[in-house]
Amino acid sequence: MKRRDFFKTSLMSLATFVAGREAFAAACKVGAAPAGKRVAKNKSRLDYVLNAVDAKGHKKYKPNSTCLNCKWYKKKKETGGYAPCPMMANKYVSACGWCKSWKKM
Ligand code: SF4
Repeated sequence: MKRRDFFKTSLMSLATFVAGREAFAAACKVGAAPAGKRVAKNKSRLDYVLNAVDAKGHKKYKPNSTCLNCKWYKKKKETGGYAPCPMMANKYVSACGWCKSWKKM
């Protein structure tokens, strides 16, 4: 394989991989907020958004980061795709959401 072909193939593979990851984030469906729980509002604080795809362009956003894979998301208390987050005063946040305090698990 020629060197140029190798780089061309590598770039195409990378583009496909990135597109796949973005498609995954876009596919995350934000469910209805759980009844009777205090729920964080979209864009209320820490630049929180209900769906991480709306965080694209934020300087702290990392591709494929969502509340679901954030260290602060209390998965054990999850109900209907929402769980409490201490960074949001323990209000329920969407598993599909994101804020600038996102931290890798
Ligand atoms: S700290 Fe993590 S779980 Fe909490 S709102 Fe931000 S991204 Fe979501």
